[in-house]
Amino acid sequence: MKVCVIGGGASGCMAAIKIADKGHDVVLYEKNEKIGKKIYITGKGRCNVTNAVTGPEFLSNVVSNPKFVMSSEVRFNSNDTREFFEEHGVKLKIERGNRVFPVSDKSSDIIKALERGLKWRGVEVVLNANVDDVLVVGNQVSGVVVNGKSENFDCVVVATGGKSYASTGSTGDGYKFASKLGHKIVTPVQALVPIILEGSETRSLQGLSLKNVVLFSKFGNKPLYSSEIGEMIFTDSGISGPLVLSMSSYINRCDLTKLQLFIDFKPALNEDMLRVRIDRDIVSLGAKQTSSLMDGLLPKSLVPVFLKRIGINMTKKANQLSNEERERIILTLKNFELKIKDLASFDYAVVTAGGVSVKEVSPKTMESKLVKRLYFVGEVLDVDALTGGFNLQIAFSTAAQCASNF
Ligand SMILES: Cc1cc2nc3c(=O)[nH]c(=O)nc-3n(C[C@H](O)[C@H](O)[C@H](O)COP(=O)(O)OP(=O)(O)OC[C@H]3O[C@@H](n4cnc5c(N)ncnc54)[C@H](O)[C@@H]3O)c2cc1C
Repeated sequence: MKVCVIGGGASGCMAAIKIADKGHDVVLYEKNEKIGKKIYITGKGRCNVTNAVTGPEFLSNVVSNPKFVMSSEVRFNSNDTREFFEEHGVKLKIERGNRVFPVSDKSSDIIKALERGLKWRGVEVVLNANVDDVLVVGNQVSGVVVNGKSENFDCVVVATGGKSYASTGSTGDGYKFASKLGHKIVTPVQALVPIILEGSETRSLQGLSLKNVVLFSKFGNKPLYSSEIGEMIFTDSGISGPLVLSMSSYINRCDLTKLQLFIDFKPALNEDMLRVRIDRDIVSLGAKQTSSLMDGLLPKSLVPVFLKRIGINMTKKANQLSNEERERIILTLKNFELKIKDLASFDYAVVTAGGVSVKEVSPKTMESKLVKRLYFVGEVLDVDALTGGFNLQIAFSTAAQCASNF
């Protein structure tokens, strides 16, 4: 069969390689001048290529539609990804949180491995090739229009990615193809994205990184999502860092005006333990200022912002704090509220949540349930996961699952 793959990202390259393995003629169209532009910037240029966990542990990191991903992940899991890249000449290492990287710390080595894989199997890679349309006859795919010219194909695999970091080529073209052919598109929203805060209260904290804190949210006063203990950072317009990116993936469909976001600065201590600690510190500090008390509890640059928020003068003697003031300190240490203005734009989103509805795609074959021989793989689908190598693994798993049908 003559197969067209649209998109030379992680999912498109893997799909082309695996379909060619089955003996088919594969043409890969990539609109950029090279393949893997997004892969190049993954993992801060190091490419966190997968996560060395499998099964339920893997799926617990998939935010949207983990059930849909389940059989792909069984077919081709992170062990298979590691084996694939080792076979294609990339030595890998496992870091904290089971994150897998090339030993070289170079994402370009992952791209080179995919290029090698495509070449070894004789996949025709056509660069600077913009696919404008997918053609159907009846309810079956018949080809594509590429750079304005029609080309016939027996099968078409859409691997065009989401719409984040559009400069890498992921401009949401797959959504257009899919919706024109009758597919429902779940509204794309930013995921794994920094959060912009209201007002200027935290502006002075730009660059401050917090370790060992918890970030949690409430919607309409009901708990929504609570992170594990981890890190976050204040930016010029809000907050970012691992905890914030994860939080964004759970709140990106909420009415942000009804959402409350809090930092727990002392997750290892409950309120009673904090009370004991603060009382003990006050005794040992004696007539020293409240700022000295807070210096032992918070990073120095945060202390003025914190005390201003709760209306306590920095210079007030610690041993003159009223019980009510001590309680205010304790409560705010455990529930420091941040007012969300918005999520940062798609240009800052590591992935796109939403996309081609998985209800109209077979999880066993990735084939459209509406148009025969039309397939969707990777981020174009309504699937997204947390950071840690899970998103690339989903791209590889869905690609391999698709190929298994050929
Ligand atoms: C900054 C950043 C860091 C990341 N780091 C990691 C990480 O370390 N680990 C991880 O697991 N995930 C990471 N991700 C997410 C991961 O990169 C993506 O989920 C994954 O690359 C998606 O692969 P894909 O093949 O589905 O789509 P894409 O990588 O977006 O590839 C789609 C390709 O299709 C091409 N294309 C689109 N439309 C057309 C058209 N009409 N004609 C021809 N070609 C077209 C595009 O040019 C592009 O090359 C990161 C993402 C970003 C933005």
